[in-house]
Amino acid sequence: MFPPDTRILVIDDMPSIRDLVKNTLKAMGYKNIQEAADGEEGLKVLLECNNPGGEIQLVISDWNMPKMKGLDLLKQVRATAEWTNLPFVLLTSESERDQVTEAVLAGVSNYIVKPFSAKIFEDKLKAAWAKHNKKA
Ligand SMILES: [Mg+2]
Repeated sequence: MFPPDTRILVIDDMPSIRDLVKNTLKAMGYKNIQEAADGEEGLKVLLECNNPGGEIQLVISDWNMPKMKGLDLLKQVRATAEWTNLPFVLLTSESERDQVTEAVLAGVSNYIVKPFSAKIFEDKLKAAWAKHNKKA
């Protein structure tokens, strides 16, 4: 599982969802949480933090947002050499569920359908962690 000092970026255009995600993470012991309101802003934070010891280590991003959607951000992230293996979890709504195949092809680490319970959230993060830290 992601260690407690993991630097996490939470991206959602709805402040209430951002708060919910942040509070769920805090309840799990995570403290290094940054946030952004859309993909464009998220990319900015990723770039700003991209220096030794400051790099974002987990992105949790909404799918449907203005300016840049989560899927487009994911594609940009995966197209960037140092972020090809950056854990990236998408938050989707039930209606976006059939688009998930596209996200899988784009290299999503896992996805969480809203609304979610704290248990589901934690299980999904655990699976995302395992995916990026496979034992040989
Ligand atoms: Mg949204």
